[in-house]
Amino acid sequence: MFFYWVMRFSDIIGQEKAKGFFRRVMLEKRIPHAYLFTGIAGIGKTSTARALTMALNCHNPSDMEPCGVCPACRQIMGGNFPDFISIEPDGQNIRIEQIRELNRRLSFAPVSAIYRVCVLQQADSMTGEAANSFLKTLEEPPAGNILILNAVEPLNLLPTIVSRCQRVPFQPLPVDAMTQWLVREKKMDPTTAMIAARASHGSLGRAIRMCDKQFLTKRDAWISRLLKLPGLSRGDALKMAMELAVKEKVKASNYRDSGEPGLLDMLTLWGGWYRDILVFKVRGPENLITNVDFTTHLKEAARSISIEGLIHSLLAVNQAERDVQRMVNPQLVMANTILKLQRLRGDAP
Ligand SMILES: [Zn+2]
Repeated sequence: MFFYWVMRFSDIIGQEKAKGFFRRVMLEKRIPHAYLFTGIAGIGKTSTARALTMALNCHNPSDMEPCGVCPACRQIMGGNFPDFISIEPDGQNIRIEQIRELNRRLSFAPVSAIYRVCVLQQADSMTGEAANSFLKTLEEPPAGNILILNAVEPLNLLPTIVSRCQRVPFQPLPVDAMTQWLVREKKMDPTTAMIAARASHGSLGRAIRMCDKQFLTKRDAWISRLLKLPGLSRGDALKMAMELAVKEKVKASNYRDSGEPGLLDMLTLWGGWYRDILVFKVRGPENLITNVDFTTHLKEAARSISIEGLIHSLLAVNQAERDVQRMVNPQLVMANTILKLQRLRGDAP
């Protein structure tokens, strides 16, 4: 899952600490063999792993940046470098069989690389068996291999694994940098870019996904449902809930998935909508508003709902997100949520 095809450290947005760390490591020519990259998805962890692969394997680097033209650089840029291995969960977990296969591959010398780089995506999804097997590899890695574990945070990893890795934390990205990048690289109009950047919680990967035409169309549909809600009868509101539960795809996690937008994306958007209204209600700073293209609607809504009603709406949406993630029956979740939201709307000054 690569959101953008970064190859050099200098192309990565933000993450100055991580980049500084790797500059030092390379300058001193003492390359640790295992790293733990922490941070949410879509902020440059895999891109940094690729940049590191290219920097370490380039035949003619200058000032620690790869040349971009030697055979190694070209292979990495073409996505067919045999010594860059990325392992993703098979379903919910990274399984023991995947780690065994990795260990087998690592027991052979790299195909052509000086350093072979192996990335474990969502390393915290390793089963206990897989983690124990991987621990042995971490303790005695075959020479010429670099192991990178990507994880949101290290709490779900074995402490014995964490302690054997060099920790490299990655931060959520600043809104302005993401907005500029989306305008420059994705040719997005500035308003859409800003909406996506503000709603992405610092994840460029997520912002890119939100700039997708399919997502933008869905967003309009989801917002128009919310706008209609106060005027519906209880029966029609229930009907809407059933329709949404059946029509929208249920996903285990909207932050990880790059596929079709679904129910969780909708609930996240709805949460952002109520947060926006709350900002207007308490006269908070307008740069906190995400859905800037609906400012008039948001202000109007702020007049017809109490702060308490807004907080309960937000809690209802958050609860629905958790329930969908826990795979509770989506029809039940949506019926409960929509009826609650409808009850809370338009009842207080
Ligand atoms: Zn090169």
